Amino acid sequence: MKISYSAISSYQNCPLAYKFQYVDKLPTAPSPALSFGQSFHEALRWFYDVPTEDPYSLQELIDRLETCWVSDGYSSPEEEARYFLQARSAIELFYRNIGDFRMPAALEHRFLIDLGFCHLSGVIDRLDKDPEAGFEIVDYKTNRRLPPAKRLYNDLQLPIYHIAVERIWEVSPEKVTFHYLLINHRHSMVITPERAEGALAEIRRVVGCIESEAFEPEKNPLCPWCDYIEICPVWEGKAIPQKTTRSPALEIGEAVDEILLSERKVARSLARIEGLKSVVSSYLEEHGIDKVGGSRGVAFIGKDGSLSWHEGDS
Ligand code: SF4
Repeated sequence: MKISYSAISSYQNCPLAYKFQYVDKLPTAPSPALSFGQSFHEALRWFYDVPTEDPYSLQELIDRLETCWVSDGYSSPEEEARYFLQARSAIELFYRNIGDFRMPAALEHRFLIDLGFCHLSGVIDRLDKDPEAGFEIVDYKTNRRLPPAKRLYNDLQLPIYHIAVERIWEVSPEKVTFHYLLINHRHSMVITPERAEGALAEIRRVVGCIESEAFEPEKNPLCPWCDYIEICPVWEGKAIPQKTTRSPALEIGEAVDEILLSERKVARSLARIEGLKSVVSSYLEEHGIDKVGGSRGVAFIGKDGSLSWHEGDS
C-alpha cells in the first residue's frame, strides 16, 4: 500500500471520509483554505529556490504571491480580496522575521519511502541546516489559530518527515518545526527515537485498519467542512450543519489603498500590452506571416485585420 500523511490524517479523523476520497476517489471541492495554502507554499518555494544566499526583496516576494495566487474555491471576489490582503500581510510579517537568510538543504522535497508494511509518501516544505544548531525540518501552516500543544504533539506529520529525512539523507534532524505563518509562530519539537517508534506503530495501525476495510464514519467537529456530508449516512435525514468560517477582517483604508495600487498595476500592464502588440504586429508584417506562437498560446491577424491572440496552440 502507498499512503501519505494527508491520507493517514484523513483516516484518523474519519475512516469513511478517507474511503470516499482515497478508495472511491470521489472528487473534493476547491476551498479558500486549500487555495490560500497552495498560494503561500508556491510563493515561499520560489523565495527559497535561489542559487546564492542573496534573498529576493519583499516586493519581489509579494509580486510572486500575486503571480502564483490560486483563485479557486472563493465564494466571491470580495472574499478572495480579503484572503489576498491577509496573505500579503502574512508574507510581510514572514519577511520581516526571516533573520539570517540561508539556502535550505532541501526544498519542497517529494519522498516515497519503504516502511516494509507500506510505502509512505509526502512533501517536505524545507530542510534547513544551521552550522551550530544542525538540521531542522520546517512545515508551513496557514491556519488562523494555533492548535493546542497536545494535538501538535500527537500529530504524525513531523515524525513522518523526521523518519523520511533520516532514511533519505542519513542525517538526524535536531528539531522539527511547524511555522504558523499568519501569526508568525514557530512551534518546534524534538523527535526522539521513542516518538518515531510510536509514529510508526500508529501508521501500522492505520494501514492495518484500511487493509481490513474498517471504514466506519466518525462524526467530528469538521463534519460541516466535509466534502461528502451530503452522502454521509451519519447525516442522513438530519439538518446539515452550516460552515461557520468567516472571511478575514479587512481595514477599510487597506481596501482603498489596494484599489489605487491595483489600478496603477492595471495601467502599467495595459501599457505593456500595447507595446507588445506593436512588437508582434511588426514581426508578422516583416516576415509576411499571419500567425506566431509562444509556449502559452498564439497571436494572429484576425478577420478585421487587427492582432488577436488566444491560449493554446491551435
Ligand atoms: S460528514 Fe463527518 S462523519 Fe460523515 S464522512 Fe464526513 S467527516 Fe465522516
